Amino acid sequence: MRGWEVCVSTDKTAKNPGLPNAADVVIVGGGVMGAATAFYLAQAGVRDVLLLERDALGSGGTGRSMAILRMHYSNEVTVRMAHESRLVIADFERVVGAPSGFVKTGYVLLVAPEQATALRKNVALGRSLGVDARSLSPGEGAGVLPAGFALDGVGAVAFEPDSGYADSSAVTNGFASAARRSGARIALGVGVRSVLVRNGKVTGVDTTSGPVNARVVVLVAGAGTPDLLRGVGADLPVSFVRHQVVKLHRPLDRLPTHPTIADVPGCLSFRPDSGDLTLVGIREDPVDSADYVRTVDTEVALEAMDAVAHRLGPMADAGWDGGWAGLFDVTPDWHPVIDHVPGVEGLVCGVGFSGHGFKLSPTVGRALAELVVHGETRMIDMRALRFTRFEEGELLRSAYGGTVFA
Ligand SMILES: Cc1cc2nc3c(=O)[nH]c(=O)nc-3n(C[C@H](O)[C@H](O)[C@H](O)COP(=O)(O)OP(=O)(O)OC[C@H]3O[C@@H](n4cnc5c(N)ncnc54)[C@H](O)[C@@H]3O)c2cc1C
Repeated sequence: MRGWEVCVSTDKTAKNPGLPNAADVVIVGGGVMGAATAFYLAQAGVRDVLLLERDALGSGGTGRSMAILRMHYSNEVTVRMAHESRLVIADFERVVGAPSGFVKTGYVLLVAPEQATALRKNVALGRSLGVDARSLSPGEGAGVLPAGFALDGVGAVAFEPDSGYADSSAVTNGFASAARRSGARIALGVGVRSVLVRNGKVTGVDTTSGPVNARVVVLVAGAGTPDLLRGVGADLPVSFVRHQVVKLHRPLDRLPTHPTIADVPGCLSFRPDSGDLTLVGIREDPVDSADYVRTVDTEVALEAMDAVAHRLGPMADAGWDGGWAGLFDVTPDWHPVIDHVPGVEGLVCGVGFSGHGFKLSPTVGRALAELVVHGETRMIDMRALRFTRFEEGELLRSAYGGTVFA
């Protein structure tokens, strides 16, 4: 197949004989960030791109994402990224040539009384940057929520009518297919063991199928990125957090649908999905490594059901249908690093998406492509997301503390 190499051999004695031994740009990781980067590199006219994924496309955090899109953030760079990215995901068919599964449900954020000032500040920031966002009192908020929604403990409500959710697999595959149509090659089942560096300059990667030479390497390997960085002497303070997603069946007759809701005091988010499904994202439990339990804990599922039923009465009759757990790669300020890796020419990284990267993926892919092509980010100035900000003590502000609601 021209332009698309799924380099999986039928000869069991050979390791990916179709894997090229050189490419201009190698992307490590086939999550949504890797696929988006391949797409925007192709858009920028970079033809010789090879994406290496150790498993399957979207098999990391991307495939486990709740894929919620919102624009409510505490700092300018992330609002801009979320806003621009939403436009791409909502118009994916035209921009990328594939469906994104975007569903505009509206997004409602609930905060405690002591967080009301921060909420109003964030809404004002969003509005100043073109986001359709409203800050409402709890009484006004009831008007954008299903009848009978319990607002106890809530001091203020933010509402974004244009937000919702998408399909993370569709977006990843859409970006990847469009990239391959423009000549990018994608090799699945190829793990990168290390980044090869000579005299402070990238020369390629060592893979489970042998070395590949490259002028530039882009690291978007999710939870695998910190180790690859450590291998070239570049340390980032990234830790891991396990987040659980509980699948519930709504009583459709009494609750046909509901908006996407972020309950900051309750530390959970929930959104509708196809049919009668509601997905609940809950818990941010630190774990030591990328090796974690991938199923939902029964007591956490019960906790999620109670919490959602407390807000939305009809959910007391919801049925539990399993779920899954996924990993967040978290930085000290719960915002990613999108930058060149200092001290290693030709090495670029996008890491530490801290559980809210999916919605940012189009602008992340574009920024990483800009770093490769122009040496700097252009559409959105992302210097606030620089690699060195932690050692400089220049962390980004998060109105709601160290959580995914950053
Ligand atoms: C449970 C959960 C819910 C979430 N909900 C939301 C949400 O509602 N909204 C939102 O915006 N974001 C959400 N996120 C976050 C979002 O999904 C992630 O930020 C985003 O998908 C990260 O994409 P990525 O490409 O950086 O990483 P990943 O998807 O993890 O991709 C990295 C890829 O690299 C591969 N890889 C790793 N090491 C190597 C190696 N050495 N060689 C080759 N390949 C390698 C992996 O196999 C993987 O496929 C959620 C995440 C989780 C886990």
